[in-house]
Amino acid sequence: MLKILVCVKQIPDVDLVKMDPETGNLIRTGVPTLTNPLDLNALEAAVQVKERLGGRITLITMGPPTAESTLRECLAVGGDEAVLISGRPFGGADTLSTSYAIVKAADMKGKFDLIFCGKESLDGATGQMASQLAERFNASQISCCCGIEEVKDGKIRAARTLETGIELVEATLPCLITVEKDKFCGRLPSLDNYLAAKKAPITVFTENDIDGLDLQKIGVPGSGTIVPKIYPPELPEPGQIIRTGSVRTDVARLMELLAGKAAL
Ligand SMILES: Cc1cc2nc3c(=O)[nH]c(=O)nc-3n(C[C@H](O)[C@H](O)[C@H](O)COP(=O)(O)OP(=O)(O)OC[C@H]3O[C@@H](n4cnc5c(N)ncnc54)[C@H](O)[C@@H]3O)c2cc1C
Repeated sequence: MLKILVCVKQIPDVDLVKMDPETGNLIRTGVPTLTNPLDLNALEAAVQVKERLGGRITLITMGPPTAESTLRECLAVGGDEAVLISGRPFGGADTLSTSYAIVKAADMKGKFDLIFCGKESLDGATGQMASQLAERFNASQISCCCGIEEVKDGKIRAARTLETGIELVEATLPCLITVEKDKFCGRLPSLDNYLAAKKAPITVFTENDIDGLDLQKIGVPGSGTIVPKIYPPELPEPGQIIRTGSVRTDVARLMELLAGKAAL
């Protein structure tokens, strides 16, 4: 039976996150959360593999206790079990320590044949996690996957979207896959599955539950990235509409403005 891991992340609604102008920190408090949309595409790809070839899907996330709702949403559309890595020492993690924690926690559930990730998260958006996870899982990696043709005899054959066409590749298992969103549109849960997912057990791993976890490699101590400052981009000046009622005066005003900007 194929063992499939899907990494999902709960993110704040990025349209509603504001920045504290004094500290430069993101204000996440009170901001509604959602499941990173690209992770739902990754999950859909995993579910399609499970439907065709059989298998078991384990969902994993690292995040605060609220991330449980993301796991339940994903259980409802095809996940079989869910793992939440949560605890204060994991906080302040960059991609290096996040990928370390995820792999150590996943190891508690055995070895996986296929690992699916979103291409990037909509909040952190480094796009680094998939490659870091592939390295840590000692897995091959197929990015930009637009179709999975075969998983057989310890190998996977899949198509990748390139700018110039489609590339067919073969890789050995374990393999980590990131998918093209328009090829794997997420599905809605049935009512039965939605209700079952609400009550499904979720495994919660704190820093004390993961075998061999090095506390120096998680959270802040394990993070190599320092973010000295976050600031919003400078917005261009808003445009002006010149409408005096007379074309002659409009043009004169336009010339005046352009001359003022040394554009003439
Ligand atoms: C110095 C620093 C401090 C930070 N502190 C915090 C903090 O306190 N709290 C916080 O929430 N974030 C924090 N972050 C952000 C956090 O480190 C990143 O969100 C995380 O490392 C993933 O990076 P990304 O979002 O860029 O992932 P990407 O590489 O863009 O994501 C690709 C894919 O990886 C998978 N993935 C990503 N993150 C997770 C996850 N957590 N669980 C499961 N799968 C995942 C998903 O499939 C996702 O689609 C911090 C970042 C830095 C640099």
